[in-house]
Order: sequence, then structure tokens, then C-alpha cells
Amino acid sequence: MIPLQEAREHVLSRIETLPARRVRLDEALGLVLAEPVFSAEPIPGFANTAMDGYALRAADTRGAPVELEVVGTIGAGDDGSLCVGQGQAARIMTGAPIPDGADAVVKVELTRRLDGQDGQDDRVLVEASIKAGNHIRHPGEDVADGEQVLAEGTVVTPGRVGLLAAVGAYTVSAHGRPRVGVLSTGDELADTPGPLRRGQIRDTNRRTLLSLVSEAGFEGVDLGIAPDRPDDISEAFLAGAADCDAVLSSGGVSMGDFDYVKVVLDEIGEMRWMQIAIKPAKPFAFGLVGGTPVFGLPGNPVSSMVSFELLAKPGLRAMAGHGSDDLGPELVRAVSDDKLGHRSDGKTHFVRVGARRDEQGVLRVARSGGQGSHQLAAMTRADALAVVPDGAPAGVGDPVDVIVL
Ligand code: AMP
Ligand code: MG
Repeated sequence: MIPLQEAREHVLSRIETLPARRVRLDEALGLVLAEPVFSAEPIPGFANTAMDGYALRAADTRGAPVELEVVGTIGAGDDGSLCVGQGQAARIMTGAPIPDGADAVVKVELTRRLDGQDGQDDRVLVEASIKAGNHIRHPGEDVADGEQVLAEGTVVTPGRVGLLAAVGAYTVSAHGRPRVGVLSTGDELADTPGPLRRGQIRDTNRRTLLSLVSEAGFEGVDLGIAPDRPDDISEAFLAGAADCDAVLSSGGVSMGDFDYVKVVLDEIGEMRWMQIAIKPAKPFAFGLVGGTPVFGLPGNPVSSMVSFELLAKPGLRAMAGHGSDDLGPELVRAVSDDKLGHRSDGKTHFVRVGARRDEQGVLRVARSGGQGSHQLAAMTRADALAVVPDGAPAGVGDPVDVIVL
């Protein structure tokens, strides 16, 4: 058996980051920028009002309440080509440009509109004395002209999509979103409703792994089910490797007579077969088929999920351009409400636990039931995996690291 860290380093040492390409902003969410983005203009681009109210000269409001003449109305989107002179004000709406001559805005709540009589202009009563600059958003206050708004290596989040739009960056240079093929293997697998014949089970891994792939921000490609026949397995892997940036398979990597995945991948690829000192998810294979990374995950449903979290996802994140300190899984400190330990077997155990925050806000975890690597229902009742190293059990009240699911 090898330590988990060694398996992870092996994977990461052979993964190459996908090349940069130009992508439209509406396809950029979750991608990693390959180049910094600069703003070609200040934001805001012009002085504008943060409030609905009146633009005026602050000096005119000394000795408030004062009455001012209203010379017009400026809405958001207007070019604001009004001029406010001494003793005057312009009605103004949030986001509208500050007119020439004005140096402050009074919010509408501090004014009273005095309707003009026949032949008279509108007037407004300003009830408070206003400081120069009041409620004015200045040009460049958010982003300066020429400023770098996002660095290379930044992950595009929803807010950053908006920021890119704000600076007019409608395409960006970003690393590719990995296209990840997912293949199930096994003669026992069915993928139809209705009764199963004895010996059959439904394929769950492909559905789970495709879901994990898309939840992680990658593009999943369904490669179907390959029966336990070398030719079919070989064909499925070759097709997947040709079409995708990476392939995940489950099953066929243990010691059984029909575990042909191992045999086939050794023929068509350069694989390393590993027994990792963890439970679940001990068997794992990684290698290249025609240059495409292939992750051979174990067949048991819980094992395949754990293997994905610990090994495949970090590898795929590296491929997508995430930094080495941002590959996950993230460990969170919790306190154990349970005895979490095991008879020494040389392995780190990933114990399925329920997690809750107590009144002090401390994350507390306790075993969440069935720990069998085939028990998917029990896995879905777990909120986290507690990391329990061999020979380092956690007692009740002890700190324990967990991976939140
Ligand atoms: P294997 O590594 O192929 O021997 O599979 C180990 C266990 O996982 C067996 O009980 C398989 O039936 C089960 N298994 C393999 N692939 C899947 C799958 N796609 N969905 C559900 N169970 C699976
Ligand atoms: Mg099998």
C-alpha cells in the first residue's frame, strides 16, 4: 500500500493544464483565467448620483431650509447636459449624471416639492444643509482607468462575470473546462427501469460520477456501460480517450477473474496500479491512454465517490488551471461526538459522519450509520467524511478533520 499523498502527487505530476482559449463571457463561469484582465476605462465612467433627489450647489443650502428653482429632470441614461446655476436645482434619479454646476445631491426625503403657480417654474424646498460631494459617485471610484481588475489564475465567479461585463470584456482568455468521460464497467450492470434478473444491479456510479463532474464545474460525457469483455472495454476507453480531456471509469480494477479493465488498460495505456492506504477506495489506477489521463476508480459506489473526491477531482482541477493550493479536498476542523477509530490496518479511514453546528457554532460530527463501501443510501445521509489516520483515533470531544460533502 502507498500513502494517499503519494498517489495524489503521482496524478498531479502527470496532469497538464488545458491550454488557454478565448471564451465568451456567458461560457466563462467557473473557468480559470489564463491572462489578467484590465479595464480600458474608469468605473463609474462619469460622476453620478447614488440617490434619487436634487442636484444642487451645496453652498446654496447654507441656512436651510432654502427654496431653489427646479430647472429640469435628469434620469439614468440621460446625458445630463443641463446646467445648474446659483439658486437652482435639477431633479435627478439614481445613476443619472451630475449636471454641470452642481456639486452635491440632496435625497428626495429631505425635500418638499413646491408646485409652481401659473406661469411660474417648479420650486423645491431643501430642508437640510448639504455638504459638497454629498451622494455623488465619482469617476473611477470602483475601478481606475487601466486598472487590472482580475489576475491570471482567478476563478470566474458570478460576481466576476458581472465585473468583466462592466469593463466590456465580453471574451476572456481562460483555460479549458475539462470534458470528462465517465464509463461504467461490469456484466451485472443494468440501466433500465423495471425488474432486474437475478445477479443484475443498476448502474449507479456513472450517474453519480457524471453528477460529481458537473457539480465540480466540468463537462461530463456519458461513455455508457462496457460489459466485462476485453474488446468492448478497450473500444470504450479508446473512444473516450479520443473524445475527452480525461476519462473516469469505475469497476474492474480489483482482483477478480473478470476485472479486465486492468488487463486492457495495461495494453492500450501506460498505467500505474495502486493500492492506497485508505478505506474505502483502496484500489486505484491512473495513467495515460493516447495521452489522455484515465482514472480507474473502484467499483463499489461509496469507494468510487471517495476516490473521486480524493484523487480525480484534484487532478481535474489542476487540468482546469486551478493553483496547487486550490485543488482540494478542503479539510475543515470539527469536534467528534463519537469514538472514531479502528483496529490498526495501516490505513487512513474516511468515516461517514453527520455534521451539525452547536450553539457555540462548533462543527460537531458523529458516525452516520452504514460504513460499507456498497452502502450508497448511508453515504447520502452523511454530511462529511471524517479523516481518521491509522493509530490516531478521535475520542468524544477530540478535534477531527473532516471533508464536507
Ligand atoms: P468490481 O471492482 O468491478 O469488482 O466492482 C466492485 C463492486 O462494485 C461490485 O459489487 C460491483 O457490482 C459494484 N459496481 C461496479 N460498478 C458499479 C456501478 N457502475 N454501479 C454500481 N455498482 C457497481
Ligand atoms: Mg466489475
